[in-house]
Amino acid sequence: MGSPVGFQPADETIGVVGAGIVGLAVGREIALRRPGTRVVVFEKEQRVSPHQTGHNSGVVHAGIYYAPGSLKAELCVRGVALLREYCQERALPYREIGKLVIAVREDELGRMENLYERARNNHVPELRRVSREEIRELEPHAGGVAALYSPRTAITDYPAVAEEFAKDIAGAGGEVRLGFPVTGIDEVRGGRGGRGGIDVSSGTRRARVQVRVDRLIVCAGLQSDLVAALARDGREPRIVPFRGEYLLLKPERAHLVRGLIYPVPDPRYPFLGVHFTPRVDGSVEVGPNAVLALAREGYRLGTVSPKDLLGLAAYPGAWRMAAQHWRTGLREYRGSLSASAFMRDAGQYVPGVGAADVVRGGAGVRAQALDRDGSLVDDFRIHRLGRITAVRNAPSPAATASMAIAEHIVATVFGKA
Ligand SMILES: Cc1cc2nc3c(=O)[nH]c(=O)nc-3n(C[C@H](O)[C@H](O)[C@H](O)COP(=O)(O)OP(=O)(O)OC[C@H]3O[C@@H](n4cnc5c(N)ncnc54)[C@H](O)[C@@H]3O)c2cc1C
Repeated sequence: MGSPVGFQPADETIGVVGAGIVGLAVGREIALRRPGTRVVVFEKEQRVSPHQTGHNSGVVHAGIYYAPGSLKAELCVRGVALLREYCQERALPYREIGKLVIAVREDELGRMENLYERARNNHVPELRRVSREEIRELEPHAGGVAALYSPRTAITDYPAVAEEFAKDIAGAGGEVRLGFPVTGIDEVRGGRGGRGGIDVSSGTRRARVQVRVDRLIVCAGLQSDLVAALARDGREPRIVPFRGEYLLLKPERAHLVRGLIYPVPDPRYPFLGVHFTPRVDGSVEVGPNAVLALAREGYRLGTVSPKDLLGLAAYPGAWRMAAQHWRTGLREYRGSLSASAFMRDAGQYVPGVGAADVVRGGAGVRAQALDRDGSLVDDFRIHRLGRITAVRNAPSPAATASMAIAEHIVATVFGKA
């Protein structure tokens, strides 16, 4: 993609680490909105969006869940508007199939009400409370005591959106360098025109490829703490990988679900709970759960990385998290091992659906930042250190919010236009 680095004169070269949807949105925003700037996105794999962006639920969140005033709340709502317009303009899939957040027990109604207030504060459009009867009208096979209904919640194809961002970068004279695992980030003083820069390198000391950029933005998802540490931005917060596994409704049972069906989430966790998710290809997923993965890119139960495990074991935050949440962790492992256990929870929302109606689907791994005190970082976290800006936590809804995150980062790096 694009032409080799360094042959086109540019006032400034901006490097971005990571060709997931956040890195590509940032690269695109700079390439299109900052004339005279050349963008180079470095990606370690051989294709764009190989990790979180290529393994998620495909939901365009309307902004229901996020603490008012948080970056998530602000950038999710703005991100929806930008993404919707972009998908329309580029004829990419974007379907407003609507979402029910269902309370299946009376004791969940208080939490549901809190969620309603949050969503109103966040200006989620057209959100309303619905009764048991209205749940049935909207989703004839679902059940519950009451629900919130968000008709504008949508589904899309994030890998297709990311591909389109990459085309925009190339079209604006930038480049996405695939197969470029960044292994070194070194600030240099002086150098070209005396203005210094950052040497971004890949490979070993003997066979090293190096690219000089003026500024660097790190959007490395599951590796973001490690890449930020290369830039001397410190290792904390650390990334903890949580695998999310999906089951798939058998095609002959997919008609049982029309829109998105979610539980009322447990406010102690940043995850939304196992949900029913129609995909743009017509299939319906059930999931994802949240199982602590034994490797950062551990898409299967048996994938173990001793290096990642040792890194986690040496971090006090991991032990504090384990002490607080081991019961939930065990329950999630049970669901991971047995489709019946998995469906016992999910089946409460669509009572006619059980383990016989599903087959194993794919899995994704979430990059979840963890503070030293054992708390899971809830909000997006973006840190600037001189010429280097690092995205340290960009979990869901970062795909939804990607274009707004890009605007925010560009304003942080270059100042508001
Ligand atoms: C199971 C699951 C379900 C989700 N559901 C939703 C949803 O429905 N809606 C929503 O909005 N969000 C959802 N999310 C969250 C969303 O997918 C992520 O927030 C988003 O994709 C993050 O994008 P990213 O670009 O930061 O990370 P990634 O897509 O992971 O990209 C990071 C990139 O950096 C690259 N990289 C890492 N290290 C290096 C290195 N040293 N050198 C070069 N490249 C490197 C990686 O290879 C990768 O391509 C979900 C996530 C998961 C896992």
